[in-house]
Amino acid sequence: MEKAESADPQRRNSRQRHAVQQAIEQAGRPLLPPEILALAQIAQPSLGIATVYRNLKILVDAGEAKTVDLPGEATRYESAHHGHHHHFHCSKCQQVFDFHGCPPNLDTLAPRGFSVARHELTLYGVCAGCNDAPS
Ligand SMILES: [Zn+2]
Ligand SMILES: [Zn+2]
Repeated sequence: MEKAESADPQRRNSRQRHAVQQAIEQAGRPLLPPEILALAQIAQPSLGIATVYRNLKILVDAGEAKTVDLPGEATRYESAHHGHHHHFHCSKCQQVFDFHGCPPNLDTLAPRGFSVARHELTLYGVCAGCNDAPS
């Protein structure tokens, strides 16, 4: 018929999706689509931003990726397989980092008679890299 394997659209699609997924899995922190594009392009240089968005939607729908929506921020994406964790937003470099560990005794913060079932937590400040950088 025609064409080498690299031109097979289905194979190309799955390679592109794999590159997007790998970028998210290996990042270890939530990424903006342009950051995902830059990482995925290392494996798939022909990748474009529209393809990244399309694959992000597929990965979210498939339960492989999650959206991270911080107030006033563009949607970021992270692996759905990193377990319970929280986010730290650096006000200098604008990157969002993961951290693990939960605040203790959250039940005591809730009003009397309330029971806490889950929590989300975002810390804001300056990351180690920016703290170390000469100003
Ligand atoms: Zn920073
Ligand atoms: Zn927690």
